[in-house]
Amino acid sequence: MATRRVAVIEGEDASPEAVRPTVELIDGLGLDIEWLYPPVGDRGQDLHGSIFPEEAKAVIDASDTTLFGATSGKSALALFYLRWGKATFANVRPAKWRPGFKSPLARPEGIDLVIVRENLEDMYLMVEGEVEELGPANLFSPILQKPVAEAGPGRFAVKVITREGTERAARFAFELARHRKDRGRPGRVTMAAKYNMLPRSDGFFKEVTDQVADDYPDVGYEAMIVDNFAHHLNVSPQSLDVVLLPNLYGDILSDAAAGLVGGLGLAPSGCYGRDYAYFESAHGTAPDIAGQNRINPTATILSAAMMLEYLDYPEEARRLETALAEVYAEGRCLTPDQGGRASTTDFTRAVAERL
Ligand code: ATP
Repeated sequence: MATRRVAVIEGEDASPEAVRPTVELIDGLGLDIEWLYPPVGDRGQDLHGSIFPEEAKAVIDASDTTLFGATSGKSALALFYLRWGKATFANVRPAKWRPGFKSPLARPEGIDLVIVRENLEDMYLMVEGEVEELGPANLFSPILQKPVAEAGPGRFAVKVITREGTERAARFAFELARHRKDRGRPGRVTMAAKYNMLPRSDGFFKEVTDQVADDYPDVGYEAMIVDNFAHHLNVSPQSLDVVLLPNLYGDILSDAAAGLVGGLGLAPSGCYGRDYAYFESAHGTAPDIAGQNRINPTATILSAAMMLEYLDYPEEARRLETALAEVYAEGRCLTPDQGGRASTTDFTRAVAERL
């Protein structure tokens, strides 16, 4: 097997405190992985006069994948490149409860769902403006019964749902459900969007997903209006398997799903494209706990396990997950967000010992 080249972008605030021990843990597995450190943020500025110089891009391009921390700004251009530059269209966010995870639910047993969030379009194209700018487009609001430009002074944002963007995310979700079915899960995709109020945009997301579903007769499929889905996620998360959501709802509801199983410190994610993928925890940079050695690295470690799977090291990915599960099941060495008193270093050492 050829050497795997992994770009590491540690990110800002408390993020490097989760990424560094994760890299050390993986190093301990003795795999043929070469770690590359693209010069982004302050290092890019010092060495090349830019927070995301061409040199950083070249390192990412030369890598098989990237392990990304979280950014509050300085690594944001690198993140934009990883997402839109590399067209990583499917953001996969598992929410799986494991014994010892501090869920707010009385009975979290059996929660094992994966949200597939379309990652590149919807309201994230950053096209916003003044309402009056819509005048030349002559868009008529059936609700206001007049051109929308006459709604009054204010702002608008654009939501774009394309066939290609929806179809590739939907296919990803159905393939994932099929894969999980082979491993004993129900094998069902639940799609949710606001297709009643937004029949032409969210309705199109549903229409394209309905068509993709026809190609997967072995995979179950249901469509829900997103507010109903939010209720469902709260009251019966165990009934969900793979969930397909447009970008904005996926962003919001995957944090809600993370909360159900025990919080942001436990929520991994991976962003997959046709020929590249990168992995990052679902949480932000946790600036309020930076420098305190108390960030929970679990989300980053689980993201790294997804990365090992992607790099074709499934056995090692399992070992890492099992070691983590043992530390939680034992419950003696947990970080403060999980009700424990362990530092990040202590927690990571406990995982390393189980490995
Ligand atoms: P973003 O907008 O980038 O998502 P944010 O500031 O909204 O960032 P986070 O950085 O995820 O959100 O932090 C939200 C809260 O959760 C903070 O109080 C933070 O300390 C806590 N938190 C997030 N991740 C972790 C973690 N891994 N371990 C412990 N606490 C965490």
